[in-house]
Amino acid sequence: MIAMKNPIAEIDGDEMTRVLWALVKEKLILPHVDLKTEYYDLGLSNRDATNDAVTAESAQAILRLGVGVKCATITANAARKNEYGLKALYPSPNATIRSILDGTVFRKPIGVSCIKPSVSTWKKPIVIARHAYGDIYKSAEMLIPGSGTVELVYRGADGSEKRTVVAEMKGSGVVLGMHNLDESIKSFARTCFLYAIDEKLPLWFSAKDTISKIYDGRFKELFNEIYETEFKDKCAAAGITYFYTLIDDAVARVVKGDGGFLWACKNYDGDVMSDMVASAAGSLAMMTSVLKSPSGAVEYEAAHGTVQQHYYRWQKGEKTSTNPAALIFAWTGALAKRAELDGTPALGGFAKRLEHAAIAAILAGDMTADLARLAVPAPAKALDSWEFIDAVAKRL
Ligand code: NAP
Ligand code: MG
Repeated sequence: MIAMKNPIAEIDGDEMTRVLWALVKEKLILPHVDLKTEYYDLGLSNRDATNDAVTAESAQAILRLGVGVKCATITANAARKNEYGLKALYPSPNATIRSILDGTVFRKPIGVSCIKPSVSTWKKPIVIARHAYGDIYKSAEMLIPGSGTVELVYRGADGSEKRTVVAEMKGSGVVLGMHNLDESIKSFARTCFLYAIDEKLPLWFSAKDTISKIYDGRFKELFNEIYETEFKDKCAAAGITYFYTLIDDAVARVVKGDGGFLWACKNYDGDVMSDMVASAAGSLAMMTSVLKSPSGAVEYEAAHGTVQQHYYRWQKGEKTSTNPAALIFAWTGALAKRAELDGTPALGGFAKRLEHAAIAAILAGDMTADLARLAVPAPAKALDSWEFIDAVAKRL
């Protein structure tokens, strides 16, 4: 049994990923590691029972312990409110956690040589850095009932005031107010430069400053300022470049290019583009995702959702072929980070072996249906999640 010094914050979730979470622990981790976690149940029923207090508590635990691992969770909407008989429509747990931790989410495809990306020119992985604070994820929205004036008003702590007209509404409609903070944007930029230098990857940052001259313009300006004042020499020494381009130009270049760079995206762009990159690289489940907070705390997660339709089939007794790779890599990422912080190499070695076992299983043709569709050579049959986890356990 491999011992742990300090615990990690374990954040459980919903539906199919919750089922697989327990299975990954039971078959792949608990037989080898004397696991120490602080457990937070973010399953929707428990979020409802705690009036969502458990979500903020889990984020505080990540800050306190330095390392967290999170399962996918349902973001409640009207349909979920009925399905689970909720007291309220809670905000997205990821948005709540990210707004407490701040920072940047790095998403990197898990490459296996038998799966070719659907973009044939991609030779090297594309890593996405997603700003994890603000914009539409921490915004105020309003239904506008009819014609009238919508204004933005800033009231300074010193009593000063600024205002601007958003729209003279000619009839009913919608309005959105969002924000970001200079400090958060700067720490986003710093984390990206540090990662790029560490991994020797060129850094791209994209936004839409031609249209959003002040908001996106501020992002572009601060990124450039951090580059010029703190990282220009370090980038040159590492042999990497930084460049800014418009988001639409970036998309065109990404699809035509051969990969091998870090693409820094604003919060929403990063959400969308990471799913695009992961799907084109093979599967949503073949992607690692880690949130690095400026405090130094890190949270590992699966970037995909709770795989709702598979869950309904599982509830009817079907053994689904849901790919647990991203969940496995969330655990290995968290255990390896804990090992690094605690100076416990045996734990770090275990995390590496578990990753190798998962990759080796796929390379040997033991894989779930999402990959079996794409693999060359194609496997004789796709495994269900239970068979795949057994195939990994056998190699581990
Ligand atoms: P999803 O759970 O990511 O699933 C969308 C589709 O992607 C699935 O139907 C499946 O395709 C495929 N897929 C995703 N993960 C897979 C895996 N591990 N193995 C095999 N196939 C996989 O997205 P969703 O169905 O739109 O969302 C379900 C719930 O997840 C929602 O309530 C949403 O709020 C939540 N969500 C949570 C997070 C998070 O916590 N990180 C992120 C996104 C969404 P096939 O059906 O074709 O097999
Ligand atoms: Mg997403």
